Order: sequence, then structure tokens, then C-alpha cells
Amino acid sequence: NTPLHELDPEIAAAVDAELRRQQSTLEMIASENFAPLAVMEAQGSVLTNKYAEGYPGRRYYGGCEHVDVAEQIAIDRIKELFGAEYANVQPHSGASANQAALFALAQPGDTILGLDLAHGGHLTHGMRLNFSGKQFDVVAYHVDEETGLVDMAEVEKLAKEHRPKVIIAGWSAYPRQLDFAEFRRIADEVEAYLWVDMAHFAGLVAAGLHPNPVEHAHVVTSTTHKTLGGPRGGIILAKKEFAKKLNSSVFPGFQGGPLEHVIAAKAVSFKVAAGEEFKERQHRTVEGARILAERLTAADAREAGVNVLSGGTDVHLILVDLRESELDGQQAEDRLHEVGITVNRNAVPNDPRPPMVTSGLRIGTPALATRGFTAEDFAEVADVIAETLKPSYDAAALKARVEALAGKHPLYPGLNK
Ligand code: PLP
Repeated sequence: NTPLHELDPEIAAAVDAELRRQQSTLEMIASENFAPLAVMEAQGSVLTNKYAEGYPGRRYYGGCEHVDVAEQIAIDRIKELFGAEYANVQPHSGASANQAALFALAQPGDTILGLDLAHGGHLTHGMRLNFSGKQFDVVAYHVDEETGLVDMAEVEKLAKEHRPKVIIAGWSAYPRQLDFAEFRRIADEVEAYLWVDMAHFAGLVAAGLHPNPVEHAHVVTSTTHKTLGGPRGGIILAKKEFAKKLNSSVFPGFQGGPLEHVIAAKAVSFKVAAGEEFKERQHRTVEGARILAERLTAADAREAGVNVLSGGTDVHLILVDLRESELDGQQAEDRLHEVGITVNRNAVPNDPRPPMVTSGLRIGTPALATRGFTAEDFAEVADVIAETLKPSYDAAALKARVEALAGKHPLYPGLNK
């Protein structure tokens, strides 16, 4: 029963330092968020000790009566939240959910059609070094260079030409909404399955601020830790007819014992996501991104060579194009880090620079919205970012503005020692 600080001071120090980092900087990595204390409490609970291979009511271990309750609640809540016929809450992560989904829908060697990684797709949608790229025959669609929007004419053309088994709609870096009905029309035309990966925008869907892919897709996967605001993990939603295949693809296909402590934490976050406060937070998330886009397309930002891909956003992130700036993606990321803002560099379509450098940034608002940032705060954040990306910038003054914003919205104050 020795507490962490006594048992392992080195790890305790790293945890404490990370808490201070999260509290004192502005977290704007689009895939990150801050989980509620109750979610972390469930995740840090005794459920971590339990083996529960199988599914509620059908386990391969004894003593599962309580984890059965928690897992069934998680399943029921997520089905209700998205209007799904079937849910699996066991995937350990988004990538695990995607692996299980893809192998349930297709066989190795089959053709899959997904958004190119360099145009905003995810590793698991067919990247060369990922399982999806190694075991499937990958065809990629792209965004139009002029508009920055997914080229649906290309999706249709490639689908007809290659007749993929699965068409993947979803993204990690794209500032607009996809036309799921059109994706489904194309999928039906070539007798493909439509799989939507809503990892990034699931929270917006739950709040009714984004079209719901569950209405159109055969299978939908998601992470639970991005806009959805829960613990790190994955889920799969689908039409009932896919239940058996998906269940056996997750377990015993790819996973052993489910992480019941994480599943309980997922259940808590789904309860939060069904509430009015969550909706209001997602409104501020989208509004914050819109404000960022607006301020970073203003004249003085443009003079510094800063542009916003697609000219704006409909979601929780913006993509900054630095091809006309004196800064590359790495330099811009480092500069923002210097003033206390955390973002990630991101390739722009047809990026002239290598992937470790890039010519862009991905900037997201979910974590700050969770922290309580208002439209006015996001306007100040946008101005700080715009100033930081100018050729001459006053790092100390900008850092002070960041600290003022962080101080205005304390994070996890109860965790301070
Ligand atoms: N799918 C999409 C669209 C993502 O953006 C991500 C993560 O960035 C994942 C899946 C993978 O999630 P995880 O990192 O939990 O494996």
C-alpha cells in the first residue's frame, strides 16, 4: 500500500512534471483532450486487476459479474449516443479498432481505398509500413489542391477502376466534413463496404454538430480520447449483421483480455458526452477553430506567409499552410512551443518538404474548450499564434499572454500537491 511518491519517486516526478506541463501550457494538438477526473478515477480503479476474456455474460473467466455490468453499460450508452445497432467497446486503441474492423470486412490481399496519409488520412487507412498497407492492396484518394477538399470525383473514379472491398472515409488532418451519403452511394455502386473512421470528430457527432456516419456506413470506428473526451481507447459501431464477425475479430482475433478499467472509464465518458454541458463544450470547440481560421487568414497573418487550408474549418481543427512563410513546420512548431503553445507540424498536400519537417501545422481546440476557453479567449490565442509566426516576435511578451490564459482557466486544480 505504499503510495507512488514513496515507492517510485522517479515515475512520480515524471507524472507531476507532466501535470505541470499540461496546466501551464496551451494544449492545441487536435487529437488531444483532458479527461474528467471521474474518468481517470475509473481508469485507475481495481478493475485493472480483472481478466475477462469474452463478452458480458459469455466470459472465459469466473468472477466477471461486476465487470459485466460496467461493460454492458458502456455498450448500451455508446449505442444510444450514436444510434448504433451494435457496439464493441473492447479495442485497446483506435489502431486496434481499425485493425479488427478491416480484418472483419476484408481478407489480406483485398483492395482497400482510403485517403492518402499525406493528404490527411491515418496510418491505418493504408500507409505502406502499417498492417493496412502491408497486408492489403491500397489505392489512395486525395484532396483537390485548389480547394483543399476531398475529391469525390476521384473517389468514384478509383472505386470504379479498382473495385475495392472496403472504402474508408475518415481522417486525422482535414478541416471539413465528409459527404457520407455520397461515399455510401459510391460504395454501393461497386459493392464495397463503407467503413467510416470518426476518431477525430466523434465528439462533434455526439453533440449533433456534425453529420452522423452511423446512418450511412456499414462499420464505424472511433477513438474515445479525442473530441469524445474519454480515456485512451477505441470502439467499433456497426449494423447488427456485422456483430459476430466484429466480435470475433476483436477477441480472439487480435486481443486477449479486455481492459475493463478503461472500459468502465469509457462508460463514464459516454455518460458525460450525452449531457448538455458536453454539447456546449463542443460548440465552443468548433467556434474556437472558426475564430482561429478567421484570425489566421487576416491580412497581417497572410503578409507573414500564413494561410489556412481550405480557407477555414467546419470542425475542431485548422490546417495552417506555411509554404509562403519563412518558417517550415518544424520551426513553427518549435516557436509555438517556446511561447507555451503545443501543436504538431503537419504535411500540406503535395508538401515540398520531408514528413519530419513539413510545411504546415495542425492546430486544434478540443483541449482548450474542455478547459473552459470562450470565444474571447480563442481570439486571444489566435492573435498570440499569429504574432509568434511573424518574422519578428517578442517571445517573452507572448509567453506572458499564454500564461495569463492558462491562469484564467486552471486545469485539474484538485491534483496539485
Ligand atoms: N484513426 C484516426 C482517424 C486517428 O486520427 C487516429 C489517431 O490519431 C487513430 C485512428 C488511431 O488511434 P490510436 O492512436 O488510439 O491508435
